[in-house]
Amino acid sequence: MSERLNKPIIFSGMRPTGKLQLGNLFGALDKWIELQDSYHCFFCVVDWHALTTAYEEPGEIRSNIKEMVLDWLSCGIDPEKAVIFRQSDVKQHAELHLLLSMLTPLSWLERCPTYKEQLQQIQTRNLATYGFLGYPMLMAADILLYKAEAVPVGEDQIPHIELTREVARRFNFLYNVKLFPEPQTILNRYKIVPGLDGRKMSKSYNNTIDIATPPGELMDKVRMMVTDPGRIRKDDPGNPEVCTVYSFHNIFSSEILAELEEECRQGKQGCVDCKKRLAKSMAAFLEPIYERRLKLEKYTSLIEDILAAGREKAESVAEVTMAEAREAMGL
Ligand code: SF4
Repeated sequence: MSERLNKPIIFSGMRPTGKLQLGNLFGALDKWIELQDSYHCFFCVVDWHALTTAYEEPGEIRSNIKEMVLDWLSCGIDPEKAVIFRQSDVKQHAELHLLLSMLTPLSWLERCPTYKEQLQQIQTRNLATYGFLGYPMLMAADILLYKAEAVPVGEDQIPHIELTREVARRFNFLYNVKLFPEPQTILNRYKIVPGLDGRKMSKSYNNTIDIATPPGELMDKVRMMVTDPGRIRKDDPGNPEVCTVYSFHNIFSSEILAELEEECRQGKQGCVDCKKRLAKSMAAFLEPIYERRLKLEKYTSLIEDILAAGREKAESVAEVTMAEAREAMGL
């Protein structure tokens, strides 16, 4: 463990939403897989965060955790390289959240862009709660508990990392310590992964493709993807920039991308053939992940065993930070 901690520390978390989709893979998970070789990574199932919006119907959180961690492992997250754990198992997250909330001005939370946006967008649930307002504060506690130097996030999360830096600065200043580093942002590779209908891939839009889609069903998904709406006949010149199929070729078929683009622009290839080629590229990439998942699913206690081992490692680091934080605050 001590040798690992000589590496720079990364923290990142994911809400347990059940089986992951390609937006999670290319919007976050592929970056985690890359980072786990050169950083000491803490990858956390942030189940308390799930409650900030789903507190009225929390029923599926446990099974969602299992499905999500199975996807992490199938894609290549390695418990030998990274600490994989559940937020609610490490109570120090709650304690640091409480202590940091004492010194965080309310206005810092109220001005978070995601707070106002989500209050407006999610009309079906009552989010006028203390927990929902404070969720970026909980995120700051998650990160600072491990003294993470960097956090891989999507662009929409940048204001939360900025808040984390401000809170770290304020704590260090108020108690005249150098306890918390100010974490940097590592941006994920793809800003937006489109869904089948061309909008951002999201369960709420019902436009997703699961990472664990059986290879035989991929063509059905690809068939549903929207293409250039201006292309009527097979030999009409197309515009790949407005085509969802092309966005996925950009991810899965990078070696033939230039050729595909030219054929599209010159009307040399029909959309049906283009989609067949995409389904083939996707299957080549996703089939090994699918097969790995099938094998892992057979070990019934695997996920709980990994989370239990991760809990021990995370807790030992978290408790050292908490002892220092309590001391700094005169407790
Ligand atoms: Fe899209 Fe391919 Fe059709 Fe061009 S040929 S519009 S890239 S599906």
